[in-house]
Amino acid sequence: MGKTADKIKQIKDNIAAACEKTGRSASEIKIVVVTKSAAIEDVKEVIQLGFTELGENRLPHLTEFSEQIELLLQNKTPDSDLPDRVGWHMIGHIQRNKVRRILKIASVIHSLDTLRLAEEIDKAAAKMKIKPEVMLQVNCSLEPQKYGVPVGAATHLAEQIVTMPNLRLIGLMTMAPLTRNKKTVRACFVRARELFEEIKNGHIAGADFAHLSMGMSQDYEIAVEEGATILRIGSAIFA
Ligand SMILES: *Cc1c(COP(=O)(O)O)cnc(C)c1O
Repeated sequence: MGKTADKIKQIKDNIAAACEKTGRSASEIKIVVVTKSAAIEDVKEVIQLGFTELGENRLPHLTEFSEQIELLLQNKTPDSDLPDRVGWHMIGHIQRNKVRRILKIASVIHSLDTLRLAEEIDKAAAKMKIKPEVMLQVNCSLEPQKYGVPVGAATHLAEQIVTMPNLRLIGLMTMAPLTRNKKTVRACFVRARELFEEIKNGHIAGADFAHLSMGMSQDYEIAVEEGATILRIGSAIFA
């Protein structure tokens, strides 16, 4: 087994242990492999291992890697163990003038955090005749964060997003604050989960609203324990 495969096995074991602890099933949890710090060869290996959901936080790298992977998949031999396609997730801050270029590549947007950005994505999606999946990024820490709608304003923004005909709101995304304090991280994830349940149970969003994207290399086990359905993991696989 290669180095990358070893690391992924370790991560899967840790996820299984966190699931066991909380009575969850690992099948409820999807890993988005964040490739921003990876070499393209390592990304290829990860795809060969069966991971088909990839994440990037900036457009230039998203463009470059998606083009290279596309070429790889186009030229695969019939007996290859490569999948037919991969899906790209945009997980970083989005400037409105880049929306169209991002939508050409990414099928899921995790980082929707303002009404103006939602309107821009809705408008671009209409022109492109697509219906992208979007997640509302919330700031679940008690301190100001650069991005993410404050918890107190999230429900209202979700209500506005669901009225937009070309967006599919599939859940919430959050980032824990950068701290080694596990209690602080857990409190943040709990807040995100409570908000998620409030929106879901309040029937503010439709049946598509089913995902909680939280947990990165440093904190994915806590995120699993607190209800994450999508983990965004990069450095624990590639560093
Ligand atoms: C980089 C990044 C990740 C992955 O972080 P790692 O610590 O490398 O696992 C997840 N989410 C977002 C939004 C990121 O920018």
